Amino acid sequence: MPLLKIDMHVHTVGSPDAHTRTEDLSGIIKTKGLDGVAVTEHDNFNALKFPDVLIIPGIEVSSRDGHVIGLGVRENIPASLSADETIQLIHEQGGIAIIPHPYDPVCECVKIAQLKSRPDAVETMNADALSFHISNWLARRDADKFRLPQVGGSDSHIPQTIGDAYTIIDSASRDLTDVLDAIRAGKMHPEGHATSVQNKIRKLHYKFV
Ligand SMILES: [Zn+2]
Ligand SMILES: [Zn+2]
Repeated sequence: MPLLKIDMHVHTVGSPDAHTRTEDLSGIIKTKGLDGVAVTEHDNFNALKFPDVLIIPGIEVSSRDGHVIGLGVRENIPASLSADETIQLIHEQGGIAIIPHPYDPVCECVKIAQLKSRPDAVETMNADALSFHISNWLARRDADKFRLPQVGGSDSHIPQTIGDAYTIIDSASRDLTDVLDAIRAGKMHPEGHATSVQNKIRKLHYKFV
């Protein structure tokens, strides 16, 4: 049973505020020592495929209560619904619903305690969080309280930060179906570190070129 190292939260040029070119993705994944990434564009479902690395198809939906990630979905999920409706639509497509960065101070975040629908996991290590230690600690506290599995992802918007945080998944194989089943079963844990200040500045600079 392979232990896979997957960055579960990556943006590419399919998101208006991100800069990683999709044609560079497979090379970056290998250079960073990852087995794959989940591509989670803002409100834009994208099913990329590469022969040599694993790509989990996903989307980061802007619900009116904050961002919700859907993995393993098959088509776009509309923005601006409630977080509960968004989770239900992800589940109707057979997907996995994850609450990313529930305590990032600069975004409107989904409050897990107020949800009626149960998400499948919480992102408790978001490398890009403004207050990395406090935000992720609060997210872990919610995950423990509500007994939800935990994932990690870089929330990368530039190539340099892919893999800063990631998830170790205990999957039966490298096949997408097995990987999604392992995530659904909670056979995973987050690892990684905060994105460096240098790369945070680099991301801001990218926005203006
Ligand atoms: Zn987000
Ligand atoms: Zn994101």
